[in-house]
Amino acid sequence: SSFDIRAMVEEIFDQLEGKAEKRTMTLAFDPNCPQAVYVQGDERRINQVMTNLITNAIKYNNDGGHVWVDFEVGKQEVTVFVKDDGLGIPAPDIKHIFERFYRVDKSRSKDSGGTGLGLAIVKHIIEGHKSHVMVTSTVGKGSTFSFKLPLAGAEEVNTKEQ
Ligand code: ATP
Ligand code: MG
Repeated sequence: SSFDIRAMVEEIFDQLEGKAEKRTMTLAFDPNCPQAVYVQGDERRINQVMTNLITNAIKYNNDGGHVWVDFEVGKQEVTVFVKDDGLGIPAPDIKHIFERFYRVDKSRSKDSGGTGLGLAIVKHIIEGHKSHVMVTSTVGKGSTFSFKLPLAGAEEVNTKEQ
């Protein structure tokens, strides 16, 4: 089925706004981010993916930090980006963060909550969509998580039930 992933992220921003505001953080779309972006996928599961990634981007960040979501629309697919200017991830840890229960450093987390399952779930869901998650990160600068999803065909969008 197809859905507008930008509208989905707007709802997630609304839900997480309180959490971000307490730490004077901003949740925003990139200035050049396209408006409606219809993708194919399991809406409920992709919502879980975006919620987990955006929650991490808030959690592993400093007060006053930023979280950006962006979509790069190609011919057949869209690349979804979740970027932050937070703590970053040390290079040796990057290959482990998608493992269940792996956490880089419990003490650096602002709120101590967390089991280390969020990214394992993200990986599982994205691989279930025949895609994969990419991450680039620099300690002290921030991280970018991204993945691709197929764009909804024009027909599919037109016949979408509202
Ligand atoms: P949970 O998501 O289950 O509540 P968690 O956030 O610790 O717990 P994951 O979401 O799987 O678990 O993330 C694993 C680890 O990767 C985190 O503990 C953190 O150290 C690191 N990490 C994840 N996202 C980021 C990010 N955006 N910036 C810096 N470190 C991150
Ligand atoms: Mg998490």
